[in-house]
Amino acid sequence: MTGAGGFIGHHLVKYLIGHGYWVRGADIKEPEYEPTSAHEFEILDLREKENCIRATRDIDEVYGLAANMGGIGFIENNKAIIVRDNTLINLQSIESARINGVKRYLYTSSACVYPGYLQKQPDLSPLREEDAYPADAEDGYGWEKLYMERVCRHYREDLGLETRVVRFHNIFGPLGTYDGGREKSPAAICRKVALASDGEDIEIWGDGEQTRSYCYIEDCVEGLHRLMRSDYREPLNIGQDRMISINELVDIVARLAHKVIGKRYDTTKPQGVRGRNSDNSRLREVLSWEPSVSLEAGLEVTYGWIARQLETREASPATTLKQTR
Ligand code: NAD
Repeated sequence: MTGAGGFIGHHLVKYLIGHGYWVRGADIKEPEYEPTSAHEFEILDLREKENCIRATRDIDEVYGLAANMGGIGFIENNKAIIVRDNTLINLQSIESARINGVKRYLYTSSACVYPGYLQKQPDLSPLREEDAYPADAEDGYGWEKLYMERVCRHYREDLGLETRVVRFHNIFGPLGTYDGGREKSPAAICRKVALASDGEDIEIWGDGEQTRSYCYIEDCVEGLHRLMRSDYREPLNIGQDRMISINELVDIVARLAHKVIGKRYDTTKPQGVRGRNSDNSRLREVLSWEPSVSLEAGLEVTYGWIARQLETREASPATTLKQTR
């Protein structure tokens, strides 16, 4: 598995080991918050071809999760680095998998491939897989994802490598980045609410009326495994189809934290598309399954974990807390 030191990768390692697989993880860094449970874990820069060859040797299946990525603030401000790193990682990983005779290769794409012109309203229709074309993906990050989806199809059709492609819609949960500039909205909001006093305002990017859907990590890793095992070869959404606004998300987290939280809007900050939701019709059809953990249940665990992380860090005089978003 590439990206095994990252948020989804680390959870997926645990899931696969729990299901009896032998797992080698590869990443440029170790998991941040707890040790990996992978049978082998190699620190490798997967922008280098020889490292991709090493990572994919003597194995049957590759889950390709390595990417230089982050929340909307990061992806809007680092386009060249993102497309350079991710193109190198992904092309060399799939080519190395082919050279090493890997049987299946799963690529992790994103809802960022969906066209901007369909996501201009907060109350948009949920996005179906076929909506990705005519293409108008998220500049930089999204275009590289869309390109790699096609590379997977070419490798399958021309070179006989079985590929699977997932399009994630905002995955969240414990053990994910919650500060430093790469965090996504649920983690950023949990952090801000945890650091705020009862009755205080927190900063919201935009007017808070932008909408998203959020999928809990346990559902995500189960969906990934189900997709790998299935015979479905086209890109498939994995996400929740309950769409809520950022304002509603803040209210849910504030309730879980038992705090009254006000909102201070900063409309100069990046907000991404105006609305986004997953259409799960095809997911239900091809996997006979869909995510089931409620947003409230997932946020309760995530908020609790982030609040405890912050408390531990506050207790340590060597660490300073940064309010980055
Ligand atoms: P993450 O940033 O936590 O994990 C990505 C991992 O890739 C990191 O551990 C990072 O160190 C590693 N990596 C980066 N550059 C590398 C390099 N040169 N060599 C080796 N490893 C390198 O992100 P995540 O949320 O776990 O995402 C996993 C995959 O899912 C990525 O492809 C991401 O684009 C995709 N995705 C995630 C979401 C989401 O909501 N989390 C949404 C859409 C798509």
